[in-house]
Amino acid sequence: MIYKRTAVIGIGLIGGSFALAAKRAGVVASVVGVARSADTREAALAMGAADEVTADPAEAVRGADLVYLAVPVRATRGIFERISAELTPGTLVTDAGSTKREVMAAAAELLPANVTFIGGHPMAGSEQSGVGAARADLFEGAAYYLTPGETTSQDELDRMLALVRAVGAHPDVKAAEYHDRMMAATSHLPHLVAAALARTVHHLASGGKEVGDFLGTGFTDTTRLAEGSPEVWRDIFLSNPDNIAGALEQMIEQLQQFADAFAGIDPELFEELLEGARQARRELLDQWRREMRGQ
Ligand code: NAP
Repeated sequence: MIYKRTAVIGIGLIGGSFALAAKRAGVVASVVGVARSADTREAALAMGAADEVTADPAEAVRGADLVYLAVPVRATRGIFERISAELTPGTLVTDAGSTKREVMAAAAELLPANVTFIGGHPMAGSEQSGVGAARADLFEGAAYYLTPGETTSQDELDRMLALVRAVGAHPDVKAAEYHDRMMAATSHLPHLVAAALARTVHHLASGGKEVGDFLGTGFTDTTRLAEGSPEVWRDIFLSNPDNIAGALEQMIEQLQQFADAFAGIDPELFEELLEGARQARRELLDQWRREMRGQ
């Protein structure tokens, strides 16, 4: 299927990469990109991610047969309110938000029954943001979670599966609740910890004044995620607070065990905790590699 007019609302890292990938694959003929700032809109045009641009989501979706939202997740609801009366019956609407429960509820409440909404979350991206970082091959080989609605038919799901495969990703259908719970553990908590670690080291190095040449790969590897867009990550935290708070509680328990080992200067406990950490990391990565090979 070739979509004649695709509205990409939020033409940044993910939206821009989707546009470039879908155009390269030939599944999308023409893209209208939406962003608030003129700088983003001009950059999207200049790099060929969009053929036209506008600041108005309603204008973008008029006559579109595919709508792809890639805005900070909490902006989604307002955009649904803005576009819902303008959507053409039969349009496939999807999003790339990193959390799915709020988006699915907003779609069921606000979008007309004559369009198809299927939630999406590409497991691709990076700590970079903005359309300048977009790449046509960003989704290549990546898992891409899909959360169909309660009324989604197999035909509608098949259209979405074909679109995800066309941009080079591996679709995987999940329930929104399960998706958000797992992502809290595997993505949102790591981001939170990286952010806290960067802040802690900055504090310990007297606001950065004392760091000298002491920073190395340990710091850069473990804090890379802290470079992520604060706007995007604020919305992820706010749209998955119960799951992230639960994961954080478990993290604090783990840190407490290390604090206890320091309090008692207990060599065996240190060794046990560190050996457990090494085994845990290996098991998680082995399992993940098996999953990726099976796709
Ligand atoms: P990004 O690079 O900052 O892109 C977001 C784009 O949306 C920007 O170009 C921004 O441009 C535009 N925008 C923001 N608010 C808007 C609004 N209210 N109306 C219209 N345009 C708006 O962020 P991203 O990394 O692509 O993330 C986009 C979505 O993908 C988020 O929901 C995120 O959770 C999800 N996601 C991200 C990753 C990742 O690794 N980065 C991976 C998977 C999923 P202006 O500022 O000019 O408006």
